[in-house]
Amino acid sequence: MKVINRKKYSYPRQKTDKWKKETFQPLSDLKLRLKLDDGNMIESAAFHMIMDGRMEEHACISTQVGCKYGCKFCTSGKNGYLRNLSKKEMKDELRVLAKEEKTEKFDCIVFMGIGEPLDNYDEVVNCMRELIEKKDLYSGIRRIALATVGIPDSLNKLAEEKLPIDLWVSLHASDDEKRKKIMPAANKYSISEIIKSAEDYYKKTGRFIWLNYMLFLGFNNLNEDVKKLANLLKDKKEIFKLILTEPNNDIDNYQKAGYGDLLEFEDKLRNNGVENEIVRFMTAGKDVGAGCGEFVFIPKK
Ligand code: SF4
Repeated sequence: MKVINRKKYSYPRQKTDKWKKETFQPLSDLKLRLKLDDGNMIESAAFHMIMDGRMEEHACISTQVGCKYGCKFCTSGKNGYLRNLSKKEMKDELRVLAKEEKTEKFDCIVFMGIGEPLDNYDEVVNCMRELIEKKDLYSGIRRIALATVGIPDSLNKLAEEKLPIDLWVSLHASDDEKRKKIMPAANKYSISEIIKSAEDYYKKTGRFIWLNYMLFLGFNNLNEDVKKLANLLKDKKEIFKLILTEPNNDIDNYQKAGYGDLLEFEDKLRNNGVENEIVRFMTAGKDVGAGCGEFVFIPKK
């Protein structure tokens, strides 16, 4: 694995001040384009941030060479899908990132780069298990998280692994019909099936679930969405926390939500009785092209 391109961005003070009231405050982002031994290229990133008053280093790695899920708001699948990454390749991503960042351990490792991690179940779970149990690399990681479109059978299986993994489930719409318009996976898995599996995951592991909701104006921020989302979250504040995310890519003609729009949507949810924790996620990483949905897979020529 070889570093082909390196982009680093350090946030100026006035920009970090903008995030002061938020859960995290980004300090710097690094994105690497990595050439695999077979000539294909993937990307990985590292983020420095202050979280709850503490400086943390996070690594975000890819799990597949391309992606077959084709979510409309994401560029990672635009060049198709080729294969899964092996456990070794994922660990190599971490090693290279650590070397570039001159760090010995990351506080948090997220499997949220290119690919659907649960579609590469065995290699991803083995990688996470070794990071947690064998401590052969970066012992002392504080958290490991995985983002998924929500594959019910795999979520059920993951719950049985008894691993301390945080889950981010990409919801992004308040009903199945709307979700199908931006996430082809919604044709296969309904929101109710995903929510049921996520609840089971919580019951078996005791770990709450982050539901990720990327906001597009005129598409999924309507009053009907507020009502449906409020209904879905009702009486489940122990189980689900909501992440309202600022998009990086356009879908159709809908405008991307900005910070004020996230606040407004949050207010509407509160007025509709939502008591769950809500965080706003202004995607750090965009100055180096490492925000949500911005990682790119480049096939070998
Ligand atoms: S969001 Fe995840 S699952 Fe969807 S296309 Fe992008 S990488 Fe694939």
